[in-house]
Amino acid sequence: MEPVHIIGGGLAGSEAAWQIAQAGVPVVIHEMRPVRGTDAHKTEGLAELVCSNSFRSDDSSSNAVGQLHWEMRRLNSLIMAKGDAHQVPAGGALAVDRDGFSQAVTAALEAHPLVTIDRGEIAGLPPAAWDNVIIATGPLTSPALAAGLQSLTSEDSLAFFDAIAPIVHFDSIDMDQAWLQSRYDKAGPGGTGADYINCPLDRDQYEAFIDALLAAEKTEFKEWEGTPYFDGCLPIEVMAERGRETLRWGPMKPVGLTNKHNPTVKAYAVVQLRQDNALGTLFNMTGFQTKLKYGEQANIFRMIPGLQNAEFARLGGIHRNTYLNSPKLLDERLRLKADTRLRFAGQITGCEGYVESAATGLLAGRMAAAERLGRDLPMPPATTALGALVNHITGGHIVTIDEGPRSFQPMNINFGLFPLIEGVATTGPDGKRLKGPAKSLARKQALTARAKQVMDEWAGGVEAKAAE
Ligand SMILES: Cc1cc2nc3c(=O)[nH]c(=O)nc-3n(C[C@H](O)[C@H](O)[C@H](O)COP(=O)(O)OP(=O)(O)OC[C@H]3O[C@@H](n4cnc5c(N)ncnc54)[C@H](O)[C@@H]3O)c2cc1C
Repeated sequence: MEPVHIIGGGLAGSEAAWQIAQAGVPVVIHEMRPVRGTDAHKTEGLAELVCSNSFRSDDSSSNAVGQLHWEMRRLNSLIMAKGDAHQVPAGGALAVDRDGFSQAVTAALEAHPLVTIDRGEIAGLPPAAWDNVIIATGPLTSPALAAGLQSLTSEDSLAFFDAIAPIVHFDSIDMDQAWLQSRYDKAGPGGTGADYINCPLDRDQYEAFIDALLAAEKTEFKEWEGTPYFDGCLPIEVMAERGRETLRWGPMKPVGLTNKHNPTVKAYAVVQLRQDNALGTLFNMTGFQTKLKYGEQANIFRMIPGLQNAEFARLGGIHRNTYLNSPKLLDERLRLKADTRLRFAGQITGCEGYVESAATGLLAGRMAAAERLGRDLPMPPATTALGALVNHITGGHIVTIDEGPRSFQPMNINFGLFPLIEGVATTGPDGKRLKGPAKSLARKQALTARAKQVMDEWAGGVEAKAAE
């Protein structure tokens, strides 16, 4: 049987290789280290963790990444098995001994009779003879391969930096202060004239907000990242440093908007949030890309009227990060529409984080193996964490006309990506109405309980088919 080829032996590539080999299909991992390094990796081990040693929360009942851990364990993930075997104390989080973990993943793959590890860079598009390929080269994909991918798609298909604006859960926005309206009530293509959530600031609130921005701690770029500011994409704190009024003439301009709660008073500045996913559960803060430290972001953005209780699905950031404009370029099975022998996995697809990268590798590996074996593999439903994540990458995100390809920014798994659920308990055991955190906890527990049941059914169906 011809092997599946995987380019990149990081979190995604290692997991994909394991899933393919376990399905009985030969696989070759092409990993360029140590022949050629990256700016962040330090070893030649597979699945090297380049920064923190944490897989984040392991709580599968009220945390979305904990739920993803649960699903990956259910699907016999190598990354989770070796993470569990090499964990170090970290409270409710799953943190690992990075060297022991990477060595264990490498050893398991080296020992598998169906896995070959070929050390060397794939410096361009994969050879035409490879008919089933997974590209999992990560945020630091080598320039030669990135150029090859651009030649196959288009110049703007691949981003080399992310520029992430914070994303807020809709149900945490105070709509008694904020209101829905598009600037000048313009409907535009696909809009209604009331597409943005607007949060008004008076003069004192604006001045206090600018003071806080200027005083806040910022994250520095690493030396090898350079300073990737480009027109139209300056961090808000850099705009504020250029002049106290700059934001009021930029992303916070108050024109073309009337506060429906207070129509006679003109806002001094307005923060706009735009719908981010088709479900309408997440809204991004328009033009608010930032390098502020995470702790500072939540405090400062909660100074904005309407966002005083905001829960953030994602905070802002700007990093070196090679990733595809996936909603446009990939089909629902993570294949490049322009050349379906190429499938993508890991951070290059626009997911974010070690666990999410490994999770997409797991699914890509299973799909590649199924294709080689001529088996049908249904996609996991979007009510599972794995399904919700892949659905966001391949279609759930809304690509806006005005921002084009840049509107798709990397995303961690979070509850905002899960379809809404009906019938969540509204009262506690004492019969009292649930409010605030208790209500939010009940919703999260209902979402994870549903996800576990659906994943169990899906995995059971796949296992039964494989045993036929
Ligand atoms: C500096 C930095 C810090 C990060 N910190 C964290 C963090 O703390 N927590 C977190 O959850 N996420 C973090 N991330 C994000 C991300 O989750 C990780 O980068 C994760 O490793 C992505 O997994 P991956 O498999 O997609 O890519 P990687 O794990 O990077 O694996 C890609 C592999 O492909 C290889 N490769 C690249 N090009 C080629 C080629 N042409 N031919 C052959 N091999 C190639 C690379 O050598 C690498 O081994 C960080 C990212 C960066 C860049």
